[in-house]
Amino acid sequence: MPKDRSELPPVEELLTAAVTALGGVERPGQVKMAQAVRDAVESEEHLAVQAGTGTGKSLAYLVPAIRYSAEKGKAVVVSTATIALQRQLVDRDLPRLADTLESLLPHRPEFAILKGRRNYLCRHKMADGMPEDEDDQLFDPREVSATGRMVQRIQDWANDTETGDRDEIVPGVSDQAWRQFSVTARECLGAQRCPSGADCFAELARERAGEADVVVTNHALLAIDAMEDFAVLPEHDVVVVDEAHELVDRVTSVVTGELSDSTVSLAARRAGRLVEQGIADRLQEAGEDLRSLLAVAPPGRVDTLPGSLGMTLALVRDAAFACITALGPRNKDKDDPENAGLRKAAFTALDDVHDTAQRMLDAFGPAAGRDETGDDAEDTGDPRDSERGANGCPESARSEEVHRAEVVWLEEGRGRVPPTLRVAPLSVGGMLRDKLFGDRTVVLTSATLALGGSFDSLSRQWGLRAGEWTGLDVGSPFDHPRRGILYVATHLPQPGRDGLPEAYVDEIAELIEAAGGRTLGLFSSMRAAKAATEALRERLDVPLLCQGDDSTSQLVKQFAADPATCLFGTLSLWQGVDVPGPSLTLVIIDRVPFPRPDDPLASARQRHVAATGGNGFMAVAATHAALLLAQGAGRLLRSMDDRGVVAVLDPRLATARYSGFLLNSLPPFWRTTDPAKVRNALRRLTAGS
Ligand code: SF4
Repeated sequence: MPKDRSELPPVEELLTAAVTALGGVERPGQVKMAQAVRDAVESEEHLAVQAGTGTGKSLAYLVPAIRYSAEKGKAVVVSTATIALQRQLVDRDLPRLADTLESLLPHRPEFAILKGRRNYLCRHKMADGMPEDEDDQLFDPREVSATGRMVQRIQDWANDTETGDRDEIVPGVSDQAWRQFSVTARECLGAQRCPSGADCFAELARERAGEADVVVTNHALLAIDAMEDFAVLPEHDVVVVDEAHELVDRVTSVVTGELSDSTVSLAARRAGRLVEQGIADRLQEAGEDLRSLLAVAPPGRVDTLPGSLGMTLALVRDAAFACITALGPRNKDKDDPENAGLRKAAFTALDDVHDTAQRMLDAFGPAAGRDETGDDAEDTGDPRDSERGANGCPESARSEEVHRAEVVWLEEGRGRVPPTLRVAPLSVGGMLRDKLFGDRTVVLTSATLALGGSFDSLSRQWGLRAGEWTGLDVGSPFDHPRRGILYVATHLPQPGRDGLPEAYVDEIAELIEAAGGRTLGLFSSMRAAKAATEALRERLDVPLLCQGDDSTSQLVKQFAADPATCLFGTLSLWQGVDVPGPSLTLVIIDRVPFPRPDDPLASARQRHVAATGGNGFMAVAATHAALLLAQGAGRLLRSMDDRGVVAVLDPRLATARYSGFLLNSLPPFWRTTDPAKVRNALRRLTAGS
């Protein structure tokens, strides 16, 4: 074991040791990536690496990250989008790497996982130190008892847990049940003042992270750490963002504000325990006005601020401000330790309501109330529509679009969730550029980053400019042209708006029959997945599972266990299925997955790009579709021995003029449009397995 940091073995030697110890095979792409990560952190230059499935990319960044940490004595942060990858890193890759590299480094590499505070059990809240926020709207007795059972499970688990981490609870519990035992970072009293601060799970996780060489976290916490004034993660100057194709969406979620009568009512209830009832009642009434208004408003993007909504938002904002004022000075908690938890919770909810209402009003700027374009109906995700939007946009409206920074939309209520207004930035690029990329070196990686053969689409979304970063595609060890076929069904009609065409159902049936089951059906909507399932269950004699029949992980297990079984579903299956072997021989994609034309954020972003002189369709809709298509097609080959077919039923993938961009985003499969050839190939594959 080298005692001196200057004697550390080079990255290549550490990687060879790690790969050998783990029983793997060193791959050129993996070595190239590890060297590029080393060079990036040494030269402090941001790096984007596309590394196809099978590259072994986690070792390719963990090894140089661990070496860097050993050399500099500083933690490296690794951020992921999914819990599955977090678990793989913390439960499998990092422990094995620590065992292997221990003898080659000055000390055994330490690692820790750190999540946002609301993911940990709050002992203070559990001990009745915080308000419970009972929900008036929970009137369905079935939901009451289901939540009650979850609450009981959390209480049982709380007696034994050593980490307080919500993800330990299997099966998981609803947000509503969990909220009764957790606080947000802003609601937390702070370890110094909290009676349970010494045993706080979130604080213990932070302590462990403070001593680690590698800290694994998620994109949301990474964004919060970068954007807030206070540090959440340990001091670091290198970040590896894995699953980087998800970064923009995750960061957007973190900075999306929401307002509904529920959020207003919660703030009013919390305030009502501490201020004069009349003042809290004013806020409650403003919330009721908001409820009446949103109940009859059409869901979707709000382009101009109706006078009634403007007045109600102002009413909500002012009533929240009156409560904040009535609560008195924020530092009064020192003299009032008994009520500290209640006051903190009230301030947090009231600040949220006040700031979000103000933010929504600000989103409309000085031109609020004017109807500038009226082009909603044209926004169909079709490139021609986008061009019409850009060119046909009146000058005044275009200028307003150029200056617009945020978009507001109304989401319709579902079940117990009331209609909710949301506000989000049109772009998070500027924010990422200033806050995330500003003062640290960032390595971004994923199997899918080079869209249309270039990193430009995503780098623009990240806010990176030419010269500030380098891109590297290390390819994939899989022999795509020999092991996979991309079939585009050009003889089928274009998909319409009225559900799955009959010809598509026939085509799916013939393909599945040829493959003998073994099919993952990726649909662009749940409606289409269910329609296909219903129609084909009658026609085929292979087992057919549909997302929603059971938990997704359970369905994937069943699908993997029996080659004859097929699994149909939508978004989470596009990215979350990893089934090597003969159970997955055919991936069917029903249509090019453009965002829905009524997706408020995507349509607003598209229009904004068009108004600023860009190609809104290519920058937003085509980029979104290319990413999902590449992710979906990436489900096919998961190991060196896999073979099969990706069948895209939507003929636009081969015939539309944007098809080159989409095709160049996919792995280099052998391509055909001949249905007979594909069915023969599937029969041969099935017979040979
Ligand atoms: S420090 Fe914060 S999170 Fe921890 S127990 Fe206290 S209030 Fe809860």
